[in-house]
Amino acid sequence: MTTRTLALDGPAGSGKSSVSRAVAQRLGWVMLDTGAMYRAIAWAVLKANIDLDDHEAVARQARDTTIEITTDPGNFSISANGEDITSAIRSPEVSAAVSAVSAVQEVRELLVELQREAVENSDFGIVIEGRDIGTVVLPDSKLKVFLTATPEARARRRSLEVDPLASNEKIAQTQEELHLRDEKDSGREHSPLKPAPDSQFLDTSDLSLEQVVDQLVILAHKTYS
Ligand code: C5P
Repeated sequence: MTTRTLALDGPAGSGKSSVSRAVAQRLGWVMLDTGAMYRAIAWAVLKANIDLDDHEAVARQARDTTIEITTDPGNFSISANGEDITSAIRSPEVSAAVSAVSAVQEVRELLVELQREAVENSDFGIVIEGRDIGTVVLPDSKLKVFLTATPEARARRRSLEVDPLASNEKIAQTQEELHLRDEKDSGREHSPLKPAPDSQFLDTSDLSLEQVVDQLVILAHKTYS
């Protein structure tokens, strides 16, 4: 594999999506939001009224769902079986269901294959973000970064993204939701959220988006110059 890769992992609300987009734009690379792919399957599972505990049915739905996702950092969209679900995948219902769907091994196998294809198809470089990129999807990536941030910073960031006037109560509720999702993502049997042994850590709690992006761009230049 000759493509330059930045494998970016971290928990919900650590800023991965905004950071990936900005880093890819600065480097002239493409980007892949793998969380959006798990969300697309969760959306299809909910739409088909499938019981989240019925792993067979969840896996069948994943096989029957054709996902198309853009990798242009300036223009994100995702569709499932031809239906544009770019906004729908951010709904609270999808957020609440996605960890159960992403814990199903067959769902992961299908999506990891698509993710590796996207890497193969990117000519120059790709920022790929998720939970298992450094450990499972691209264990040979020369650059792996694990973004962290305090639970308070992550909840605040996520709440203000949705509503710039979010109340403290709303932020506390978001913190609880993120905590539940992280617990499920870290505790699952297959490909749990965890840093690869050779990941570099970056705590974003007290950094602006610009500062995080600058650090990652410097790391990418160092790694691939
Ligand atoms: O990144 P985002 O918060 O949109 O991810 C949604 C969910 O997708 C995560 O909570 C996790 O359950 C799942 N996910 C995953 N592996 C990835 C990316 C996301 O299991 N590589």
